[in-house]
Amino acid sequence: MTLDEKAHQPLAELIAAGDSVDSLYSALKDAFEGERTAVSSADDLKALRDRWMGRKNGLIAAANDAWLKAAPRELKPQVGKRQNEIRQAIEAALEQAQNDVAALGRKREALDVTLPGPERRLGAKHPVRRTLEEILSIFRELGYSVAEGPEIESFFYNFEALNFPADHPAVDEMDTLFVEDKMLLRTHTSPNQIRIMEKTPPPMRYVVHGKVYRNDAPDATHSPMFQQLEVFCVDENITLADLKGTLEHFVRRFFGRGIKTRLRPSFFPFTEPSAELDITCVFCAGRGCRICKQTGFIELLGCGMIDPNVLRSAGLDPEKYQGFAAGFGLDRIAMNKYDINDISLLYNGDTRFLRQFR
Ligand SMILES: [Zn+2]
Repeated sequence: MTLDEKAHQPLAELIAAGDSVDSLYSALKDAFEGERTAVSSADDLKALRDRWMGRKNGLIAAANDAWLKAAPRELKPQVGKRQNEIRQAIEAALEQAQNDVAALGRKREALDVTLPGPERRLGAKHPVRRTLEEILSIFRELGYSVAEGPEIESFFYNFEALNFPADHPAVDEMDTLFVEDKMLLRTHTSPNQIRIMEKTPPPMRYVVHGKVYRNDAPDATHSPMFQQLEVFCVDENITLADLKGTLEHFVRRFFGRGIKTRLRPSFFPFTEPSAELDITCVFCAGRGCRICKQTGFIELLGCGMIDPNVLRSAGLDPEKYQGFAAGFGLDRIAMNKYDINDISLLYNGDTRFLRQFR
């Protein structure tokens, strides 16, 4: 007799034929567990539930009628207890199976190769990076090499070798972030001029760029960390005309043909003579606006002929060699180019801002 048949057979007859309450319920339990391990889908689970817990035709309902209700009086407590136990065990097992099947379904969904994949947001080049790459490509075409250098610099390379007088305001601790005695976070990229000149025989043409640090309170146009780029060239017979021609070429390539330049005398410790380069205001095309204060020009960079003292610091003979240098804030140029009005936007990592530059 199969278990299914036994479940519909009155208990007294089964006991007379050699079964016991324990053996009958153990057989039920074993059979259920065997079938439960074969469940691998929601359909399997429904079939298992119907077969065991169906209200009319389920095996547990059958056992309830044939075994419990028909049990001899003296066996009723024992049968009732076992009936109750197996019903609860099966309900719990079915609930667990329900969870397993749901999890399996989710796993299969995740592996469904016919579904469209999750959206992957493309990254964007940071506006400062874009600006840098564009400028580097212009100078590479002119035969310039690109170099970087240490961000922690010695006092010598950052100031002394660049002809800063000891009482220059930039040397003051208010502007400079010292790491330890005579070691500091570089305040400009110019120390690389000395480092390169020391190791490279002229002629040399270099672009150096990187992060620089000043003890400035952050506001819309100041950040304690910003990025500089400078170009320099050392050779025999270099004149101010070479500087002017190089910068004019750069400005036209970067901002467009219609942009005019003008040099204004200025002062920097490391160049002599020194100048600032203004260009036609890119916001109003020279007509005059709020940004250029109605002058039609905006200041772009500082430049000049490399001071003989600087060449000497690097071991070069200023009687034989001359050079020019020009430097500017990359951030400021990027802000001009992309019409960004707050420098902190460049560095606070807000992806909503950066996404615009895709
Ligand atoms: Zn303007």
